[in-house]
Amino acid sequence: MTATDTRPVDAARALFADRFGAAPAGTWSAPGRVNLIGEHTDYNDGFVLPFAIQHRTHVALAPRNDGRVRVASTFDDGVVEVGLAELGALFPARRDEIPEWARYPLGVAWALLESAGTDPHTPTGVDLAFASDVPVGAGLSSSAAIEGATAVALAEIWGIDLDRVALAKVGRRAENEAVGAPTGIMDQMASLLGRADAAIFLDCRSLEAQVVDLGLAGAGLELVVIDTGVKHSHATGGYGERRAACERGAAALGVPALRDVAPRDLPRLAELVDDVTLRRVRHVVTENQRVLDTVRTLRDHGPTAIGDLLVASHASMRDDFEISVPELDTAVDAALSAGAVGARMTGGGFGGAAIALVAREKVQEVTDAATAAFDAAGFAAPTIFTVTPSAGAARD
Ligand code: ADP
Ligand code: MG
Repeated sequence: MTATDTRPVDAARALFADRFGAAPAGTWSAPGRVNLIGEHTDYNDGFVLPFAIQHRTHVALAPRNDGRVRVASTFDDGVVEVGLAELGALFPARRDEIPEWARYPLGVAWALLESAGTDPHTPTGVDLAFASDVPVGAGLSSSAAIEGATAVALAEIWGIDLDRVALAKVGRRAENEAVGAPTGIMDQMASLLGRADAAIFLDCRSLEAQVVDLGLAGAGLELVVIDTGVKHSHATGGYGERRAACERGAAALGVPALRDVAPRDLPRLAELVDDVTLRRVRHVVTENQRVLDTVRTLRDHGPTAIGDLLVASHASMRDDFEISVPELDTAVDAALSAGAVGARMTGGGFGGAAIALVAREKVQEVTDAATAAFDAAGFAAPTIFTVTPSAGAARD
């Protein structure tokens, strides 16, 4: 992100002109996302309820006729260039030769061509320039935004007719294999399927997605993001350790995934696994149930009624899954003390952001309370802003 007020779509066009010396053929974009509830359930074949946000990553693109692909981003001074025909040899085996950020768009190009079964000699090359206002590493999925923008742009100009779910799988494959981050598919689905004023209720096993109206405006509610500024990283061991614990739990119960475990199965698991594994599993199993309860509550009673579910989700991540950090707990506690309807950390944990569901007239109070609590605890000031459930990836 550049430190200017330039709209990211204009920044992408300007970057394109600067790095490639021409005007782009068009721009596409995809949003970041906030997960309303359902954390670490995605790779357990469970349920999640994310929504796309107004922050977007834009890509300016023009075709080339020499089979080369060049990528540029406001994050980086240079241009990364490879031949389309080389992508298959680069990913995943030699991905270390590519700067990390460029593995996202180049990995999408690779995975897209592989799933379309297109001979990489057939499509033309492309130049791609990225600019974004999605905060990076804050748990708002700037990674899915760059993947989604790349996927819809390349699919359109290469004439690859894949539906949104297939494009989400392309993004996940790029992130898993080209980047090397073992993430699930929630972020890509939210970024590609998002709708204004709605969340996406996703079954991560079947990939069936339902749009669930949030009705925030009608209820006079805002969603406040409190970005702690603490950077999470998939490179650290915590994420992999949590996934391994989930796999241990499923294996102990003889099921393919924790999706197949109900809260009533937990006492039986306690006989089979150690305390840490039990608590990891308990988070996932109860969190799945909370997602189902949240969807039902939204439909039957509206968004004001989901506060307790958000609070229970946070407690489960703090105490059982142990992926919160003091900054996130401080943000949640401060928001609730200042009258938020509900609050929880969102995203993979170990840093990133908390969300609070807040009556419009209390947004300032919650903001002030969180800022003051961070100050009192000696933490760096958080970044606080509201997010609006928004539309998914599209041509601009
Ligand atoms: P997040 O929670 O923001 O998704 P990740 O670690 O999953 O955090 O992804 C962030 C990484 O994605 C960045 O470090 C960078 O490599 C890449 N990325 C995201 N947006 C851009 C962009 N606009 N330009 C270049 N790289 C980007
Ligand atoms: Mg990410």
